[in-house]
Amino acid sequence: MYRTWAEISLKRIAANFEALRRAAGGAEVAPVVKANAYGHGAVAVARRLEAEGAKWLGVSNAVEGATLRQAGIEARILVMGGFIRDEIDAFFDHGLTPVVHSLDSLKELERVAGARGEKLKIHIKLDTGMGRLGTQAPASEIAGALRALQQLECEGVMSHLASAADFDSEQTLGQAAAFDAALDQLRAGGVGARLVHMATSAPLAYGMKKLFHSMVRPGLAVYGYVPEAVGPAPEVRVRVEPALEWKARVLEVKAVAAGAPVGYNAQWRAGRGSRIAVVAAGYADGVPHTLAGRGRVIAGEQLVPVVGAVSMDLITVDVTESPAVRAGDVVTILGAEAGAVHSAADLAREGGVIPYVVLCGIGNRVVRVYVD
Ligand SMILES: *Cc1c(COP(=O)(O)O)cnc(C)c1O
Repeated sequence: MYRTWAEISLKRIAANFEALRRAAGGAEVAPVVKANAYGHGAVAVARRLEAEGAKWLGVSNAVEGATLRQAGIEARILVMGGFIRDEIDAFFDHGLTPVVHSLDSLKELERVAGARGEKLKIHIKLDTGMGRLGTQAPASEIAGALRALQQLECEGVMSHLASAADFDSEQTLGQAAAFDAALDQLRAGGVGARLVHMATSAPLAYGMKKLFHSMVRPGLAVYGYVPEAVGPAPEVRVRVEPALEWKARVLEVKAVAAGAPVGYNAQWRAGRGSRIAVVAAGYADGVPHTLAGRGRVIAGEQLVPVVGAVSMDLITVDVTESPAVRAGDVVTILGAEAGAVHSAADLAREGGVIPYVVLCGIGNRVVRVYVD
């Protein structure tokens, strides 16, 4: 029916969510559905997670949150990616909960809330060493600013880890200690937030319980992948499985003679008489351009090499060893066929990227089809 499509199992996403809830002990699990639910379709995924009992969902920005509200999602929505002044009204209009990253933007929000005569719950983010978003103000100053609030209520205190899956690094320990110290000082300053959170997929998957606090924010693991560890990692404690398969049709199979070029800039030449399948997905669909000459897909139930350049709309694969492949057949870019498996982690390794990039990069032209 389609040239290229993704089959997404909402049941698998529900099972992954359940596995993460078990791993989280008593902590609230706030699945992250930003970036179109890592390519899986934010509305469909959010609906299912809400039906499975998710009380919180994480998004990056106000537009993502508003899109979920317009689709009827009622769960709390945490907007984690910072905001500019023009996005503030959307928090009130759509009942979103912003993460506030600086004392200046806290004041700005308080001012808007006052002008609107409305209350708003917020979470405050501390930069405990990542050096990206989050306030670096001393805890006493943060406590003072929070105590002074009239319209806003600080419901959560959070931070974000820079090296959560790197077990050679001391950074996580340092950030955890800085976070704990700041929480103590905030409490001493009269600020007690109901929700405290810093853990993402990696701490949850590797069982780093000291980082769980009262809420955890897994993204990648909801979709079936555990961030790859560096160094002496503990055992993976959650069983999650990929929820998305990505397919495309063979448009044409052609015989090329030994020495003949294939694709842009003749980057590849047949070393022998070869059969080349032209497949209907390219970099505009999210096939990494860096896959040229290094990637693989499944055709005819086995892994075959991507040869030549990745084009905008097409890739070319060598199916000499899969003689049954014909025009109209389905090729699996991500997924499994018979014994052959090709995951987003595999594709990421081949393309020199990370699984996040592969999943978030699946383009708009790839039709999302929901299967059980
Ligand atoms: C994206 C994001 C997450 C989810 O991270 P994963 O590694 O995908 O689990 C959690 N928290 C924040 C603030 C994020 O931006």
